[in-house]
Amino acid sequence: MSTNEFRRPISVDSAPRGSRCEWCGNPAEQQLTAIGGVSHNEGGLFCRPCGEQFSLAIIANAARNVAAIDPNMQSH
Ligand SMILES: [Zn+2]
Repeated sequence: MSTNEFRRPISVDSAPRGSRCEWCGNPAEQQLTAIGGVSHNEGGLFCRPCGEQFSLAIIANAARNVAAIDPNMQSH
């Protein structure tokens, strides 16, 4: 059915014990690293809900980068 799986350019590790989510301060569960390849890497320690938001933001950002290099847009 689905031939196009969402590729997540993000590496996921378990957070060190006792670490805190960078966004909300709750106990962190995941250490996420965006594997940008293009410009820079982002990442940090996140609880589960914030980690999902982070993943969505990275995916949205990656999609925007793809659109930004669309050769059809070079008209200025
Ligand atoms: Zn959080």
